[in-house]
Amino acid sequence: MHGLWSSGASDKNKAMVEQLQRYGVIKSSKVAEVMETIDRGLFVPQGGSPYFDSPMAIGYNATISAPHMHAACLELLEDHLQPGMRALDVGSGTGYLTACFALMVGPGGRAVGVEHIPELVASSAENIKKSAAAPQLNDGSLSIHIADGREGWPELAPYDCIHVGAAAPQIPEALIEQLKPGGRMVIPVGTIFQELKVVDKKLDGGVSIRDETSVRYVPLTSKDAQLHSN
Ligand code: SAH
Repeated sequence: MHGLWSSGASDKNKAMVEQLQRYGVIKSSKVAEVMETIDRGLFVPQGGSPYFDSPMAIGYNATISAPHMHAACLELLEDHLQPGMRALDVGSGTGYLTACFALMVGPGGRAVGVEHIPELVASSAENIKKSAAAPQLNDGSLSIHIADGREGWPELAPYDCIHVGAAAPQIPEALIEQLKPGGRMVIPVGTIFQELKVVDKKLDGGVSIRDETSVRYVPLTSKDAQLHSN
């Protein structure tokens, strides 16, 4: 399939990862390996440009984040995505990052996606089934649930890693509670102006919060507000 002259999807995905490495967004070889293994092209709807460094519309007033944001979040969370660990992806959308988390924590860990649009949950499962994370959907170490992510997913708490893919007006208390001591959450916070916050829960339960960078995400909100925004 990948002859000398082909420019197949996996070649383009690899070129995207190499560019992110050249720009210094990806420093970790593990993050590069995972982003090479999970083909982003399987997660972007037909007609989009999956390997272009930009967010893309996925319907329902949602977007798949740009590759450099996915890479930046994986870099920030890598130490909390070690084999056997538990990861929660709030606003899992296309399922791309949940699939990356699953690969990192492995079959002995848990990668849990929570998304409030049922159609996106269904299509994300289809995307994942085509990807290298498919076996983990079968063995149960990867699951995606229809729920309001502002409540987290208490059934499998506490989590070593929580990623929030939509911007909250403030950090939901339930998510701080569901973070394991020693764990880390990455969450965009704000309305018009947003900061990507890194929340570390110390072993004594204390919490430290710092701003990583300015970002622009869709809001973490109610399903009705999301579907009727415009
Ligand atoms: N990480 C995803 C981001 C998708 S955009 C990706 O790259 O594919 C943000 C997602 O958050 C949307 O799919 C939106 O439907 C979802 N979302 C917004 N508010 C939510 C809430 N309260 N609970 C669950 N999901 C929510």
